Amino acid sequence: MAIAAETRPQEKDSSEAKAHEKRRWILDDFDIGKPLGRGKFGHVYLAREKRSNHIVALKVLFKSQLQQSLVQHQLRREVEIQSHLRHPNILRLYGYFYDQKRVYLILEYAAKGELYKELQKCKYFSERRAATYVASLAHALIYCHGKHVIHRDIKPENLLIGTQGELKIADFGWSVHTFNRRRTMCGTLDYLPPEMVESVEHDASVDIWSLGVLCYEFLYGVPPFEAKEHSDTYRRIVQVDLKFPPKPLVSSAAKDLISQMLVKESSQRLPLHKVLEHPWIVQNADPSGIYRS
Ligand code: AMP
Repeated sequence: MAIAAETRPQEKDSSEAKAHEKRRWILDDFDIGKPLGRGKFGHVYLAREKRSNHIVALKVLFKSQLQQSLVQHQLRREVEIQSHLRHPNILRLYGYFYDQKRVYLILEYAAKGELYKELQKCKYFSERRAATYVASLAHALIYCHGKHVIHRDIKPENLLIGTQGELKIADFGWSVHTFNRRRTMCGTLDYLPPEMVESVEHDASVDIWSLGVLCYEFLYGVPPFEAKEHSDTYRRIVQVDLKFPPKPLVSSAAKDLISQMLVKESSQRLPLHKVLEHPWIVQNADPSGIYRS
């Protein structure tokens, strides 16, 4: 993928954009602001693109760390996939550039930060909030699957919240662009479906399972198959050992939807468009996709 082919933030379709299309990004194109967070391979800063004044998040990754962890291929795939996706619930990747030591990713700025932290703060979400997020995710995943992209790593740590309170899928590190069924083992165990922990073939329905896990976690504050030992989580996933504790009180409609997504036989999981038609979503999700506290 050529950097020059990427659009500059908020310059899309303008004549100015066309004029700059051939120019590559450099660090000097940005004013760097406060640090937004720290990841495994580097730091993320608030930044302003000088020409357009557009605010972005600049992710700075150290090449040495990427090489040591053998994740250059994963990063390349993430950049290629994410930069081609355009959806209100998917974090935009505007482009990238690099120097001798670092790789820089120019990302949409998600002003309200990590969903994970919100969940920690609230312990669990209201049904209205959970349903709004699940519907947003279903919309984003329908879009991805339509482009033959499977995310494979949907979890709270990979979700950010935008200025209006809208959910954004942020991390495509484990995603694949595929026309075939996959057999690769990846992701954190808690969110993986039986066919992935057992390393058998899997397809786009892995994302339906993860959405079911996430819906449970939004409502109960913990993922459904959590256990002290890795081996117990593994066993609980494979057996679909799904239990709904009495507290917090969750409606039977929500439990019905979760039970229809967390189905061992992947072809029997509720398709994403049916998730959007489920009574719990219809009655609780804000159609704007925005949760207002
Ligand atoms: P990461 O390396 O992607 O795990 O990012 C590290 C941290 O930086 C995250 O946990 C967020 O708090 C923050 N962050 C990353 N990307 C963005 C973004 N696009 N907008 C706002 N904050 C971000």
